[in-house]
Amino acid sequence: MSACHGLEKIALYHDGRLSLSEQRDVEAHLLICSECANELEDLELISKEFKSARLPGASPGLVDRLHSRAADLDQILLTRFVARLSAIAAAALVAIGICLSFFGRNPVSSRAALASWEQSAIAPDLNGSSSSTQGQFVEFVAQDLSGGRP
Ligand SMILES: [Zn+2]
Repeated sequence: MSACHGLEKIALYHDGRLSLSEQRDVEAHLLICSECANELEDLELISKEFKSARLPGASPGLVDRLHSRAADLDQILLTRFVARLSAIAAAALVAIGICLSFFGRNPVSSRAALASWEQSAIAPDLNGSSSSTQGQFVEFVAQDLSGGRP
């Protein structure tokens, strides 16, 4: 643990990321603090070593392998896009199905699908405009279902 708080700025100074006034403050501090001066010297030594380090060369066929991987990457991205699009379409279909099952029922159309005698049994026409045969048939069905009891 260092007792010098100026040490934190040494790396920034070394990388040239300080303002001009901050650089002057650090330079003044370096004159009186051997710890920071040693830290700056170490950073400069490390930078020099990295600059002079020799990087390994690319293996033969590297560019060809990278190009083939890029083609594979295009295929993978397309496959993922299609899969996500399919999932979205499936979710939309499920949502539409749920909405239709809850809100898509039309009582008028379902009533129209019923036979006229069923409609009379469910909702007898109170205006008296229904035919008498329908009314008689409904009475017959009601008596039959009740076992003949009035
Ligand atoms: Zn210092």
